[in-house]
Amino acid sequence: MIRAPTIADLRARGHTGARIVCLACHDSQIVAWDDIGLSDATPVPDIALHRGFACRACGSRDVAAAPIWSGKPSDAPG
Ligand SMILES: [Zn+2]
Repeated sequence: MIRAPTIADLRARGHTGARIVCLACHDSQIVAWDDIGLSDATPVPDIALHRGFACRACGSRDVAAAPIWSGKPSDAPG
């Protein structure tokens, strides 16, 4: 059974935030947990639903939240 990781799960692995990826232009940005401001029980994919992030590059609100698996924000494209 596959369960989406929650904010608490990622915190436990040492992640400091989530990656917000634009589905329109594939730009991505890193948002810290403090800036997200949601409960630790929130599934990571639901972050975008709750917060309505907009893409910083094209302004689209069609975005998805994902874990920062690499742990290196600097390797985000663009
Ligand atoms: Zn975009």
